[in-house]
Amino acid sequence: MLFEFIAALVTVIALIFFINRIGGQGRDALTNNNGNETAENENENGFLIYRGSELHFSDETLRTVITKHLSYFNNLFAPDKEIFLRRLKEFMRRKIFIIHDKSGFREMPILVSATAIKLSFGLETYLLPHFKFIHIFPAEFIGVSPFLRVLAGNVSGSSIRISWKHFLEGYQYPDDGENVGLHEMAHAYYFQNFETNQNADSNFVTHFSQFNNFGNKVFEQEKSPGNDLYSEYALNNFQEFWAESVELFFERPAQLKATYPDLYESMTALLNQHPPNI
Ligand SMILES: [Zn+2]
Repeated sequence: MLFEFIAALVTVIALIFFINRIGGQGRDALTNNNGNETAENENENGFLIYRGSELHFSDETLRTVITKHLSYFNNLFAPDKEIFLRRLKEFMRRKIFIIHDKSGFREMPILVSATAIKLSFGLETYLLPHFKFIHIFPAEFIGVSPFLRVLAGNVSGSSIRISWKHFLEGYQYPDDGENVGLHEMAHAYYFQNFETNQNADSNFVTHFSQFNNFGNKVFEQEKSPGNDLYSEYALNNFQEFWAESVELFFERPAQLKATYPDLYESMTALLNQHPPNI
């Protein structure tokens, strides 16, 4: 009797734990190849580590997650959706996802990777081989180099780091010009193409100089009062200006085109694509 009671109690507690875990945020727990999200993925620091090559999501799962969050994908023609999914799987397979939290959700590797695929969809090379690690933090995190600061995302060494809270906000407000996922991926693609000696995309490299020319003019113009398409942060240096240009290109393309048409056109050439709905 006592045994049955304890067994029933354990079942109820386990069920409550499970519901809390996948409920709340309405997301599904991330699982490895064996369907387990257990200590085998957890290192001594309590991080969850997933090799992309062991995350075999079905096409249906990928479609469900992307369709829900990425209107960009929904606007693609059917054959392009297939290309997008193929690229997404190739990209994820090559990355190691490190989640700095007690639980992970399948949306994390899928949506962060899909953001890279969206940015690079017009390019021939898109795999970012220099960046093997994608770190996902639950919220803002502390960066230590070159100085202590609070970050929503950054790119350094062979890692891309993203705050999941800020990442989701980027897609929750798709036309406010702020998207930390696109921002960090813009830094990563620049670095891959110009700072490493591998996997450069000839179209990206060729057209970046034109973006540079128009961008430098806009960079100076935006410092004048009344010109406020870009944030003050973007005017810190040209790298931040580039990253924010990518955010504006996808989130406020009509405004970017109307305000700085030459810069906008140079970005369509550089990325070899037009944002949807323009
Ligand atoms: Zn930045």
